[in-house]
Amino acid sequence: MTQTLTPTAAWKQMQDGNQRFVDDAPRHPNQDVARRRHLAEAQHPVATLFGCSDSRLAAEIIFDLGLGDLFVVRNAGQVIGESIVASLEYAVAVLEVPLIVVLAHDSCGAVRAAIDGTAIDAAPLPPHIWKLVAPIVPAARKVLAESGGSTVDEIDAELVGREHLRNTVGDLLQSSEIISNAVAEGRLGIVGANYRLAEGTAVPVITVGIETDGIETEGQSPATKEGSE
Ligand SMILES: [Zn+2]
Repeated sequence: MTQTLTPTAAWKQMQDGNQRFVDDAPRHPNQDVARRRHLAEAQHPVATLFGCSDSRLAAEIIFDLGLGDLFVVRNAGQVIGESIVASLEYAVAVLEVPLIVVLAHDSCGAVRAAIDGTAIDAAPLPPHIWKLVAPIVPAARKVLAESGGSTVDEIDAELVGREHLRNTVGDLLQSSEIISNAVAEGRLGIVGANYRLAEGTAVPVITVGIETDGIETEGQSPATKEGSE
């Protein structure tokens, strides 16, 4: 049975599962017939995860969770959109999840496409794909400008990915009152994490409404510690 956890406790549970996965000691919890039957009436997931669609980010596997544990929303590059925000709002308002995990990863194809798209002589992308990756372009331009105007080929894709991740968490708070209110009331935390493909680790880059004692964050941490309106 899953009880409603605090945001920090929910993140701890996910970190513990990720550590088991990293250590090659997964328990594969909540994947049996009893669990399936128990869940038939209702779901009480530990968290909602909004991540990149990349096949290597299989959500329940990398956090060693099972049926009914995660409410998952994914698209290429984890780009905020109407249906994404609505799905996350549903998880927060109706399912009462205490945690949103936004999951990016290194070597992301969508981030690469956005970086390549900033070149003056970039070949046009198919319209639907361009529409998806265009929100990542400001992160690419910012990193490009801060690096002293090096060429697109030299731009650090991992820096762009982390910038895009921070932007995504900020956009989420700005675009949804349900989410920002829940954070302000202490009912919801948000963790923007970067998944390292080779190591299997989900490393926090930005946290909102989470007690950060002992949580290592990757890269420079921005001002966003509390929910903004
Ligand atoms: Zn990706």
